[in-house]
Amino acid sequence: MSVRMYRGIGVSPGIAVGKALVIEMRRPRVKREVLDPARVPLEASRLRQALEDSRTQILEIQERIAREVGTQYARIFDAHLLILEDHLLVEEASAFIQAHRVNAEYAVQEVLEPVRQAFSRIEDGYLRERRSDVDDVGDRLLGNLLGQRASVHVEQPGETIVFANELRPSDTVQLHKDAILGLVTETGGRTSHSAIMARSLEIPAVVGVEEICAHVRNHDAVILDGIEGVVILSPDRETLAQYHARKQQLEYAGRALHKLGGLPAETQDGYRVRVTANIEFPDELPAVRAHGAEGVGLYRTEFLYLNRPDLPTEEEHFAVYRAVAAEIHPRPTVIRTLDFGGDKLATAVQLAAEENPSLGLRAIRLCLHRPDLFRTQLRAILRASAFGSLRIMYPMISGVGELRAANAILEDVKAELRRQGVAFDPEIQVGAMIEIPSAAVTADLLAREVDFFSVGTNDLIQYALAIDRINEQVAYLYEPLHPAVLRMLRSVVSAAHNEGIWISMCGEMASDPLHGMLLVGLGFDELSMTPASIPLLKRIIRSVTYGQAAEVAQRVFTCPTAKEVEQLLRQEMRARFPEYFASDVFPSSE
Ligand code: PEP
Ligand code: MG
Repeated sequence: MSVRMYRGIGVSPGIAVGKALVIEMRRPRVKREVLDPARVPLEASRLRQALEDSRTQILEIQERIAREVGTQYARIFDAHLLILEDHLLVEEASAFIQAHRVNAEYAVQEVLEPVRQAFSRIEDGYLRERRSDVDDVGDRLLGNLLGQRASVHVEQPGETIVFANELRPSDTVQLHKDAILGLVTETGGRTSHSAIMARSLEIPAVVGVEEICAHVRNHDAVILDGIEGVVILSPDRETLAQYHARKQQLEYAGRALHKLGGLPAETQDGYRVRVTANIEFPDELPAVRAHGAEGVGLYRTEFLYLNRPDLPTEEEHFAVYRAVAAEIHPRPTVIRTLDFGGDKLATAVQLAAEENPSLGLRAIRLCLHRPDLFRTQLRAILRASAFGSLRIMYPMISGVGELRAANAILEDVKAELRRQGVAFDPEIQVGAMIEIPSAAVTADLLAREVDFFSVGTNDLIQYALAIDRINEQVAYLYEPLHPAVLRMLRSVVSAAHNEGIWISMCGEMASDPLHGMLLVGLGFDELSMTPASIPLLKRIIRSVTYGQAAEVAQRVFTCPTAKEVEQLLRQEMRARFPEYFASDVFPSSE
């Protein structure tokens, strides 16, 4: 059989060479049965028992994950427990059984269907992917009612690369690093649970490889490249040899990189870039340190609000921020204030449904609309600033008006704390994310009113190119290296420097080592990224001069398309760092 190559999104780096195991995620089949009235109470008690069994199973999984992987990942399953404990689900399913005299399985399926559909319609990527939580709980409940529960069984530990349409969180956690070499899914994105779990378990993974399961059979030979997002089926000898060599190189290079952890990210001619980490949970701090981050450049605080019916209190915010500030001190931590759209807060804050949530009442707009939420978080950040070096960053600033409105609330909160004699850092720096084109265009005006900028390329690209960042159908147009994006970056950096403020990039674009030289050459003072990407970036920065990086950054502006920019960067990086960028066995054919 001939060599076949498929492209997807590399979400967990590394190379795996092994045999395919295709997992079919079949939804339990449910039949409608009309019951004899006498059986109705029995059916209700079967439902209660299945709920209880499901709860026990989830608690067991949660305990294991907390032990083996980390408490932050165990928390993913809080959402499952919340769904199970949702009174509406239990009551509606029981009422359905009573009203229609049907079996419990059928009632559960009917009650969950509208919930599933509601999740599918959500535009926000993070929340839409949480539909898999509803599916996972629903399937577990049905499996318990039907007495069947499929599980992933790996026959050949140490050889297996798992292929699936999608993996539910509870399936992913069964995949042990020792048993599984890699993971390929047809759906999902960087923020899907399977991607998060794969990264934490350090299992190379590629997601979003459309219809791959139809082309692969169990035991087929497979190469998976989680860095480039490539899957190769039936590789020939030559390809296998190339990847084996690359895998070995990466392993050597990984060991060498680790040693760079403690060294500064400084070019050969002494140009210093601060390399910091993006985090979502305080539990990630050990990884931040282990990979040599010089602080936290983006602490996404949304996770404090998720999977709970109420809002976090000021004390809860404070306890977490203080712990992070103290742990990272004397290095800085940039805390981003709440960045939610209406849907994300559905349980805790009732907001009107929106046609277009990504253009709707989200992030700083939501905070200005609900100053109670905003003030609570700002008070907690300010109080915690007495315990370490904290910075405040507003997401989705669209222009000076919004920035001033946010700063007015901040000043008011500071005055309140002063009146109450509560300590905080009076010099705390305040920055704006540049992730809306209007902010990029007015960066010269914004720069006069903040201490720093941080470019959120994930959103900036989506809004600048009119490409939904999580829509697989237009993913090919989501181009970080689009000339329009590069021109925006160049002008935002120069606006920041003209006003004497520093500028960081915290979007995913900074995590890709291919962009390392370019971003240094464009003049970014800080790059904030997934902790695991830090050592390679340090290696790149330490190997070049600022002049060389600036020259590359200048040359890309002569390229009229993103493809040409990418080719130019690949050539450059391949020549300088063959051990990391020489993988193009299949050069991009587009
Ligand atoms: C971004 O938009 O680039 C960013 C860092 O924020 P988020 O991905 O959380 O929207
Ligand atoms: Mg953003």
